[in-house]
Parts: sequence; C-alpha cells; structure tokens
Amino acid sequence: MPARPVKFPPVIRLGGKDWRLRRRKLPDALGLSDEATRTITVHPGQERIEELDTVLHELFHSILRSQGREYDMVPEETYVRALATGLAGALNDNPDLLPYIRASLKQ
Ligand SMILES: [Zn+2]
Repeated sequence: MPARPVKFPPVIRLGGKDWRLRRRKLPDALGLSDEATRTITVHPGQERIEELDTVLHELFHSILRSQGREYDMVPEETYVRALATGLAGALNDNPDLLPYIRASLKQ
C-alpha cells in the first residue's frame, strides 16, 4: 500500500503573489509551473522524496517567473533540476537542517 501523500499548503506566496499548489494528473510530466494562472501542478502517486523533488523543481521555476525572468529551457532545466534534487537530498540526509531553517525565519 503506498504511503498517504503529504498535505500541500494550497497557496504559497512568491514575490508578493499567491500561487496555487495542487496535485492533478499530468499527461506527460511530473510537474508543471504555469505562470499565467500562477499554479504549480504535481502529478500524483510519486514517492514522497520524488514528489518533494518535483515540488522544489516547480517552485524554483515559479520563483524565476515571479522574478520576471524568461524561461530559457536547457540552462534553466539544468540548474533547476540540480538544485531541486540537491536540496531534497540535503534535507532528507540532514534532519537538523530544516529545524535550523525554520528557526531562522520570521516567526
Ligand atoms: Zn523543469
């Protein structure tokens, strides 16, 4: 039996604007960042760490769009993939890192 999915925050704030975060079947991708509707869609049924990687990946794309940066395909996919996978792995391998980050944020 697959693990129950972790609940998403339905709305996340990026660059002063709200973006919707949702799970929805996608025909040919694990995730999608849609600047026009400010929606991040994540394909359901992924293992938790893979889904986290996908959420971070799409979050990084959305951050770039919210900063007004144009999508530049290959270079962007290269660094977004490296950062998302690297951050998911770092958070997974270092349980004390997330509490440190949380404690460093505004209350
Ligand atoms: Zn991508």
